[in-house]
Amino acid sequence: MDRPVRVRFAPSPTGALHIGGVRTALYNYLFARKEGGKFILRIEDTDQNRYVAGAEEYIMESLEWLGITPDESPVHGGEYGPYRQSERKEMYRQYAEQLVEAGHAYYAFDTAAELDAMRKELEAAKSKNPTYNAITRKKMKNSFTLSEEEVKQRIESGEPYVIRIKMPHREEIRFKDIIRGWVMVHGSTLDDKVLMKGDGMPTYHLANVVDDYLMKISHVIRGEEWLPSLPLHVTLYKFLGWENEMPEFAHLPLLLNPPGKEGKLSKRQADKLGVPVFPLPWQDPNTGEQYVSFKEEGFLTDALLNFLALLGWNPGNNQEIFDLNQLEMDFDLEGVNKAGIKFDYDKARWFNEEYIKVKKVEDLVPYLMDVLRANGIDADVIDQKQREQIVSLFQNRVTLIPDFWDKPEANGKRLAQAQVLFNMPAEYDEKTVRKKWTGEAADLVEAYKMDLSQLENWVADDIKTTLEALLTSKGVGLGKVMPAVRVAITGAGKGPDLMTVMEIIGKEETIKRLEKALMSLEQKVS
Ligand code: GLU
Repeated sequence: MDRPVRVRFAPSPTGALHIGGVRTALYNYLFARKEGGKFILRIEDTDQNRYVAGAEEYIMESLEWLGITPDESPVHGGEYGPYRQSERKEMYRQYAEQLVEAGHAYYAFDTAAELDAMRKELEAAKSKNPTYNAITRKKMKNSFTLSEEEVKQRIESGEPYVIRIKMPHREEIRFKDIIRGWVMVHGSTLDDKVLMKGDGMPTYHLANVVDDYLMKISHVIRGEEWLPSLPLHVTLYKFLGWENEMPEFAHLPLLLNPPGKEGKLSKRQADKLGVPVFPLPWQDPNTGEQYVSFKEEGFLTDALLNFLALLGWNPGNNQEIFDLNQLEMDFDLEGVNKAGIKFDYDKARWFNEEYIKVKKVEDLVPYLMDVLRANGIDADVIDQKQREQIVSLFQNRVTLIPDFWDKPEANGKRLAQAQVLFNMPAEYDEKTVRKKWTGEAADLVEAYKMDLSQLENWVADDIKTTLEALLTSKGVGLGKVMPAVRVAITGAGKGPDLMTVMEIIGKEETIKRLEKALMSLEQKVS
């Protein structure tokens, strides 16, 4: 049946949006764009106990930051609203009652203590399926064991009750998942899940199925952790008479911990490794814990999206770089893998580096400005030409945005980058000084300083020509003096184009730095 493609991302606002959730949102978004359909954000907030303040806003801000904007949502509106389940509360009960009337669901009055006692008894007896099910329901307090009259009385007297589904006990439930193929589960292994809770709220299962139906969802694309719920959902579609409207299902492979660690990706494991799992900064309002985020770490959104797109999707060739437009054209569910996939942070960093390299200089300027401001620089006074010059100097030397200022090195030290433009070197690279700051080099630096003080047109080309003219007149090569000039200006033995560095810091500062080096280094190399 050809139906308009409508997909939804349906997070519960129980905390920050985890990167696995972002991937689910992205795949839904890409599928909708590819198929010319709609991408819907539905907030599943029926579980009041798990509600976390700020989580819903966080989810929306994250999607916005990443540019995977919903077509319909609590803020964007749409024909099928409300898009927040707490605002749809009244809609669910009628479907639960409809199921009761049709004999597919029933009332149950068991207290928490009674349920607990049942579970313990079943566990002690080593039951294979220690749940509320076709066998155990016969011993509990529900529509099966109480008379119709008593059930009615209890409800009327205001006694709390739940509505449970009556799972078919003797049937095999079969369904097809686009990614996993045919799945078969025997009804006898399943339990009579609660559909309506004692507080009058639907459970996830009922609300989710009802809303997918009412919102005319064509494809449910979600994490593999929901696959075990699918037999129940499929049964609900059947019991509610919606089999023909049932969406297609695609369960995405699990994200696993980074290489070296086992198991499903957890924020704690990731945090220990210093690997972010949240798109934006997040402080848990209950525990006060703060987690690093992709944004703060310095990821570009297009690099992050590219990384996530390939975290479970195989384009069928070796191509790795896909911008969002291309993903929107190429993405397909057939290419999604079954196997769980490791969350390889180094690969994420690699994508970021590649994206920074090819980004237009002017598009990187705002990032540079933020980095400079974060390091106490009054970035607004730098003119646009210089901002672009700074970006160009370091663009190929940056993995994460903060690397524009300084970059961590394998030896645990930090390599100064744009930092050198704003600060006089505090120390000089010892090895370079030892090898390159010879008496001859120091004399040449002195002579160069004199020549530069006469230079009118302070641009990189002329700064270079001045040096070349000096070297020609002395009959020495560039290698004799360049490292010495570099260490004097930047304190380091290596770095980006030195003449541009000198142009940016200006004539006065250049001369100051050369003088300081001449004074402090001469004494060392006697
Ligand atoms: N509310 C569920 C979640 O938090 C939605 C699962 C689904 O997409 O059906 O992941």
